[in-house]
Amino acid sequence: MRWGNFSLYLEGVTPQPRNHPAIVSRLLNWFAGNARDLPWRRTRDPYAIWVSEIMLQQTQVKTVIPFWECWLRELPTIADAANAQSDQLHKLWEGLGYYTRVRNLQKAAQVIVQQHGGKFPESFAEVLDLPGIGRYTAGAICSIAFNQPVPILDGNVIRVLTRLFGIAENPKEKDTNARLWTLAEQLVVHAARIRQHAAKSRTRVKDENDRCSSLNQSLMELGALVCTPRNARCRHCPVRRLCVAFRENRVEALPNLGRRAPATARHFAAFVIEQGGKFLVRQRPSGAVNAHLWEFPNLEIGAPLSGLPTTVAAAAEGMLGVAARDLSPLVTVKHSITRYRITLEAFTVRPGQMRFPQESAAWKTSAQMRRLAFTSAHRRVLHAAVAPSAAPRITVLPR
Ligand code: SF4
Repeated sequence: MRWGNFSLYLEGVTPQPRNHPAIVSRLLNWFAGNARDLPWRRTRDPYAIWVSEIMLQQTQVKTVIPFWECWLRELPTIADAANAQSDQLHKLWEGLGYYTRVRNLQKAAQVIVQQHGGKFPESFAEVLDLPGIGRYTAGAICSIAFNQPVPILDGNVIRVLTRLFGIAENPKEKDTNARLWTLAEQLVVHAARIRQHAAKSRTRVKDENDRCSSLNQSLMELGALVCTPRNARCRHCPVRRLCVAFRENRVEALPNLGRRAPATARHFAAFVIEQGGKFLVRQRPSGAVNAHLWEFPNLEIGAPLSGLPTTVAAAAEGMLGVAARDLSPLVTVKHSITRYRITLEAFTVRPGQMRFPQESAAWKTSAQMRRLAFTSAHRRVLHAAVAPSAAPRITVLPR
């Protein structure tokens, strides 16, 4: 059966609260007239939708669009993704961050080729079984590509549902999280049911076969465009008359995410070493954060950077055997990864009696380095190294 475990989702679902039909109807009507024209919304190809969903994790839509288009141009089929070289994969992902995503994507593509003959599976359980695919992503693929009545719950949907239903408990708590999944499931199941009665309902029907897809995407879209973390645009919201948080003036208080882990400052020093038109760079090892990506020799130092403090001097002495007087400040890059606020200060090193770091190190020309995948911060260092006059002294990377 095309919908795989469809009956599983219809059975065992708790009775739907009275407002669900009105919520679903308003969301579908709103989505029909307000959905953004995103490239992955013009296809039902599960591979293309899968790639978009993985890229969109932790990354904004406008950032993802060119990456997604480039990926599908270079690797148009699941088999292409399964067989791609590691360097090509990482280069296609360069700048998106969270590189475990792309490695899992390839592992999953290989499973699809080996176990499903290269055809993306349609059963929710089989999709969920693929490397790197959790309940949210499996739900997104199965609902958007195959119109299955399976729920999704990401940050945007959590925000919409906690406000809409006035849920004050922390959504990370097990019971509250389960309740949110149940609500999301009830809504998409209702969307599937009204499919059969669309002719009689007042819900706008663009395509009878996209009710579940549209309902789930409407929740995501409402969270992205209207029910935003700050300054929600409630006056433009299609479900404001049904929204508990709006009625009770609790919009800003929800969702209740508890206390956030405090941000932690971390400081790194990187060294740009050039000889005969080549730069010394290294590839990060498997298992490390940003594994397989390239970078300049660097290490974490313990104190805030300012000028050339003893910590940088000690790092240069310990790593390269050079003194502080052999270093010249090149660029400072500030960026954030999860709760870490990272400052990377890069220095050019005057050639001399230096000791070269050996692990995975290689000498590369700037043309060769352009073809390698660097972490975003070290890509900025590279720009400064090859065109120092054009690069700003301090760069702050977007989150
Ligand atoms: Fe969110 Fe406001 Fe709409 Fe409620 S009325 S769902 S708080 S945008």
